[in-house]
Amino acid sequence: MKYSKVLLKLSGEALLGPQGSGIDAKQLAFYADEIGKALSLGVAIAVVIGGGNIYRGAQVTGLEIPRLQGDYMGMLATAINGLALQSALEKRGLPTKLMASLAVEQVCEPYTPKKASRHLEQGRLVIIVGGLGRPYFTTDSAASLRALEIDADVLLKGTQVDGVYTDDPLKNLAAVRRSKLTFQEVYQQKLRVMDMTALTLCEENNLPIVVFDAHQSDQLCKIVQGEHIGTLIS
Ligand code: UDP
Repeated sequence: MKYSKVLLKLSGEALLGPQGSGIDAKQLAFYADEIGKALSLGVAIAVVIGGGNIYRGAQVTGLEIPRLQGDYMGMLATAINGLALQSALEKRGLPTKLMASLAVEQVCEPYTPKKASRHLEQGRLVIIVGGLGRPYFTTDSAASLRALEIDADVLLKGTQVDGVYTDDPLKNLAAVRRSKLTFQEVYQQKLRVMDMTALTLCEENNLPIVVFDAHQSDQLCKIVQGEHIGTLIS
């Protein structure tokens, strides 16, 4: 096994189906199955889930909602996704703890690195919601920090495409996928991977990132077993 403890970042977008907002039953079942398969290999898995399928603080315009309030709405959206993912995992008989960095204590345990690590040691899946619990951050930054706190071997960033490209592959047919990148290359070439806060935290603490296509089957299992999938940033 190449990685024995991983932090999986899933964006809210990953849960989107054809309806364009909210949670798609098929997508939810797919991720629960994928996570379950990786767990059965004996990998410790913590998931940080985003909320973009429901609400993003910074992107909403035209509503009378200031950024600060919008960001809390976004953080609460991650809790909704987390509850959905927990249900799907538990339905498959997988022991799952939902932890939050924001107080929603009736449904989520308060997140602390120690408790999360303890759950992982006991073979439980841990879903961490609420981002960092603070506005002006993203769930990518939360994923980086949580990965460091639980001492994960790698941050696995599931996206809509199969790695990092030189340009947006959906818009530019000449865009080329890079299989390996350094953090410096990501900065210099202004490649869109994660926000700078998230990236620098990983770089400064030598935490590798694997960007992969979250929509394809068996990617998680292949990555933890050492197959080179997507783009490795280190
Ligand atoms: N958010 C925040 N602080 C955090 C994490 C998230 O304020 O630490 C808010 C922010 O408004 C963000 C929204 O929650 O737009 C949803 O998170 P994100 O955009 O990272 O979700 P994703 O794109 O991964 O679905």
